[in-house]
Amino acid sequence: MSARPAVTNQDLQALSQRSTREWQDADAAHLLHPFTDHQALAARGVRVITRGEGVYVWDSEGQRILDAMSGLWCVNVGYGQEALIAAATQQLRTLPYYNAFFQTTTPPATALAERLAAVTPAHFQHVFFSGSGSEANDTNIRLARRYWDLMGEPERKVIVSRTNAYHGSTMAAASLGGMAAMHAQGGLPIPDIVHIGQPHWWAHREGAAKGLTREEFGLVAARWLEEKIAGIGPQKVGAFIAEPVQGAGGVIVPPSTYWPEIQRICDRHGILLISDEVITGFGRTGRWWGCETFGYKPDLMTFAKGITSGYVPLGGVMVGERVARVLIERGGEFEHGYTYSGHPVACAVALANLDVIEQQGLVQRVREDTGPYLAQQLAPLQDHPIVAEIQSCGLMAAVQLCRHPPTREAFAVEHGIGMVCRKHCFDSGLVMRAVGDRMIVAPPLVITRAQIDEMVGLVRQALDRTHAEARAAGW
Ligand code: PMP
Repeated sequence: MSARPAVTNQDLQALSQRSTREWQDADAAHLLHPFTDHQALAARGVRVITRGEGVYVWDSEGQRILDAMSGLWCVNVGYGQEALIAAATQQLRTLPYYNAFFQTTTPPATALAERLAAVTPAHFQHVFFSGSGSEANDTNIRLARRYWDLMGEPERKVIVSRTNAYHGSTMAAASLGGMAAMHAQGGLPIPDIVHIGQPHWWAHREGAAKGLTREEFGLVAARWLEEKIAGIGPQKVGAFIAEPVQGAGGVIVPPSTYWPEIQRICDRHGILLISDEVITGFGRTGRWWGCETFGYKPDLMTFAKGITSGYVPLGGVMVGERVARVLIERGGEFEHGYTYSGHPVACAVALANLDVIEQQGLVQRVREDTGPYLAQQLAPLQDHPIVAEIQSCGLMAAVQLCRHPPTREAFAVEHGIGMVCRKHCFDSGLVMRAVGDRMIVAPPLVITRAQIDEMVGLVRQALDRTHAEARAAGW
C-alpha cells in the first residue's frame, strides 16, 4: 500500500498546487515510462510539462520551451487549436463511443474514411483504422499475408524492412523496425521479417558509400533489396516496408536515386510496397504524403500521429486498390480489428484537424515557405566547428555532429555528445531530439518564420555550448 492517498477528480485543484518535487516523487514511485532508464530518471527527476500553446509548452517550473519536436512528431497544428477541442467535446456529448464491428459504423468514422480517400493518392479508396502507428503496422502484416493467401501464394510471407527503421513497439511492429536495442530485448524479430541496410550516406561513409556520391550510393542501397530478394527467393517475399524519410532513426533523407529504384525492384518482383507515413503524412515533407515528395506508389500506407495532431490517439492503414479489391471481392471475413478502430471522438478530432490543415494551407506553406526557409536558416550552421552535415525535408531536419568535420572524425560514443547537446537545448528552452550524434527537429507545421529564427538561434547557441564543453573536456 502506498502512503500517499489516492488521487481523485476532486483533487485536481489541489494537484495544480503540487510542486515539481512532489510530482517527481510520485512519478518515480509509480509511473513506468516508455524508452526510459528508470534509475537514471529517478536520480535526475522527471520534467513535468503542464500546458501548451501554439509551438510552445511550459514546464512545472514555469519555463517556456519551444517544442521543435511537435511532442513526438505529432502536434502538427500546434497546441490549443479550438476547433479540435470543440470537435472532441461535441462528439463526446453526442456519442462518446461506438464500434465499427458487426455491420455498424458512426458518422465520424465513415466521414473520415471518405475524407482520407480525398487527400491520399487516387488509388487509395479504403482505410482500416487502428489506435496507433504500431497497431497499424501489425495490420499491415496481416493484410499483406492475407492478400498473398487470397492470391494463392501463401508462401510469400517474408517482409523486408531496414536496419534503424522505426515502425512501432508491439512485438510485430518492433520486429519490422530495425532497432538493434529493441530486438535484443524479447527475442525479436519474429520469424519471416528480415532487414537490409539503410540509405544513410553519412553512416556508410567509411564502408559501402566510400568514394561514392550520394546519388551513386542511393542506387547501391536500393539494390540491397534486390540482393535480399534474390537470396530468399522472390516467391517467398510478400512486402517491403519503409519510411519515406527515416524519422526516429535520425531524419535520414535518402538520396534522390533511392526511391525510384526501390519502386522498380518491387514492381519487378510483384512485391507489395508499404510506406510508413506515421511521421511524414499530413504535410510534414511539404506534400500530403512522403511518397508524393519522393515519387513512388505504395500499395499500403501507414498513418497515425498527424491525423489528429496527437490530440487523441488514432492510426490506420490506407489500403490501395490492388489489395482492397482482393480483400473485399474474394476475402470473406477479415479476422482482425481493434476496439478503437474508427473511434468516433478520434475521428471527429481528425476531421477538425484536416479542416485546420486545409484552411491554413499548411501543406503548401511547408512546401513553398516554411520548409525552404528552415533549410535556408540552417544552412550557415554547416560551417560550425562540430557540424558535419545538415539534411532537411519540409519541416524535418537533422544536424550531424562530428568531432572534426574536415576528416569526418566522429566523437567517441562514450561521450554521448548528442545527449550533451540535448541538455544545452533544454536549458535554453528548446526541445530538440538526439539520435546518437545526430540532432533532429520536426516543429509544428504552424511554426512561423519568426519562430524558425528563434528555433535556429537556440540550436546555434546549444551547438556553441556543446562545442565549448567538448573542447574543455578534451573530447
Ligand atoms: N511508424 C513510424 C514511422 C513512427 O515514427 C512511429 C512512432 N514514432 C510508429 C510507427 C509507431 O507509432 P505509435 O507510437 O503510434 O504506435
